[in-house]
Amino acid sequence: MAIRCYAAATVVICSRPDLSSNLPALPSARPRRSSYRRAAVRAMGATPSSPLPSGQAPAKADKASMSDEDLKERLTKEQYYVTRQKGTERAFTGEYWNTKTPGIYHCICCDTPLFESSTKFDSGTGWPSYYRPVGDNVKNKLDMSIIFMPRTEALCAVCDAHLGHVFDDGPPPTGKRYCINSASLKLKPQ
Ligand SMILES: [Zn+2]
Repeated sequence: MAIRCYAAATVVICSRPDLSSNLPALPSARPRRSSYRRAAVRAMGATPSSPLPSGQAPAKADKASMSDEDLKERLTKEQYYVTRQKGTERAFTGEYWNTKTPGIYHCICCDTPLFESSTKFDSGTGWPSYYRPVGDNVKNKLDMSIIFMPRTEALCAVCDAHLGHVFDDGPPPTGKRYCINSASLKLKPQ
């Protein structure tokens, strides 16, 4: 499981040339990576999420404070890179991969509750993993950024923040594994 998720999250060297960049590129999100990593980062950075949605999300009011400039100011480079440019943090480095504190994990961008700690499990992947999101607050989208490896992207349903990916090898009762970047989350302990 660890190998699969690692590969899925890092071997993103096939960017989608048909997609033009809708977001301005950061100078360098992670300047100290190896050349292999830098290639992956650049590739992922070249396939940003769609621009901030308009009208399709339930919490439109939040958009006022969610302009790209606001987010750049408010988020760390890592958080911005992951959530707005579909980046992936390195395994076993995120804030929450091994956290067992009870609470609710919220979207780092718009504060929507996304995952409950009671649904978190140890996937061995080095990323926080959950078997079920909160309500309909996480939406899925087909991700073809790796040509021969279609994946299911997990996004915040309110602000379209990229969270991670969903796999079908999770535990009961859902059988789903939401493999999520810590950088997209903010834990509010209970
Ligand atoms: Zn959000």
